[in-house]
Amino acid sequence: MNINDWLQAARQRLDALDARLLLQHVTGLSRTELICRPETPLTSAQLDCLETLATRRQAGEPLAYLVGEAGFRGRSFQVSPAVLVPRPETEELVDLALDKLRELAVRAPRVLDLGTGSGAIPISLALEYPAAQVSAVDVSPAALAVARANGAALQAPVRWLESDWFAALGDERFDLIVSNPPYIHAEDPHLAGDGLCFEPRLALTDGADGLACIRAIVADAAAHLEPGGWLLFEHGWDQGPASRNLLTLAGFKAVQTWQDLAGHDRISGGRTPSPQDAHP
Ligand code: GLN
Repeated sequence: MNINDWLQAARQRLDALDARLLLQHVTGLSRTELICRPETPLTSAQLDCLETLATRRQAGEPLAYLVGEAGFRGRSFQVSPAVLVPRPETEELVDLALDKLRELAVRAPRVLDLGTGSGAIPISLALEYPAAQVSAVDVSPAALAVARANGAALQAPVRWLESDWFAALGDERFDLIVSNPPYIHAEDPHLAGDGLCFEPRLALTDGADGLACIRAIVADAAAHLEPGGWLLFEHGWDQGPASRNLLTLAGFKAVQTWQDLAGHDRISGGRTPSPQDAHP
C-alpha cells in the first residue's frame, strides 16, 4: 500500500487534515513530500503504526497527543497526556499579557505563570518580550518535565518551579501574573466528552464549582504583585461576572473582562492599586 492508497482509505474514518498529519508523523515526510510523492510505499511497520493511531483518533484522542506536539503562536510544543493541549484562546491571553507588559514599561518586568502545563504561556512571553524575567509554576512534576523540555528545545529562559499556586514563592513579587487555571465545573458533561476525557483532569476542573482555583489565585495574587501590577487569567464563557466580582472584592483596580475570537467572555483581570490611584 502506498501513501495515496492509505489516504484514500483513511477518508472513511478520519478527517483529511488528521489523516495527513498522522501520515507526516509516521513517515517523517513533509506535507510537500507527501503531495509530490503519492506513490511512496508504506512499510508494514508504518501501516501498523498508522492503524493504531487512526483507531485512537477515531476514539476521540486529541491529535496533539498522537503526534506528541501542538502548535501555539507559531511554535511547536511537545505535549503528553500529563499536560493540557494548548488552546488558541490561550494565545489571546499571551497577546493581552504582552499589551500589559508594554503599558507597564518596566525595564525588566517580572512575570509569573501559574499552572503552566506545557509551558506554552511563559515560553511565548519569554521569547516575545525578551526583557521579561519569566517564572512558571505547576503542581504536577510530570507537567513541569514537559514544560522544562519545551523551554530547553525553544531556548526560552524561564525559571521553572514545582509549586501549588503561590506556595513555593515565599514573598516574591511580580509585575504581571497570568494563568490558565482549571475552570470547568466538576459536573460539566463536557469533561466526559470530546477530547477532554483524554486530558489531565487536574488541568481542566477544580473538582468543585469551576471557580475554586480562580478564587485561590485572586485571593493571594495581590500579595505577590508590585503596586500597579496586573493579574490576568482565563476562565469559562459564563465566569466573567463572578471573576470580576472576586477581583473587585480583593481590591483590584481597572477590573475588566475580555472576549475571545468567538465573542465569549474568556479572560478577566485587574491591577493592584498604585500611588496614582490616590492622585488621579
Ligand atoms: N478551555 C479549555 C476547554 O474548554 C479548558 C481549559 C482549562 O480548564 N483551563 O477545553
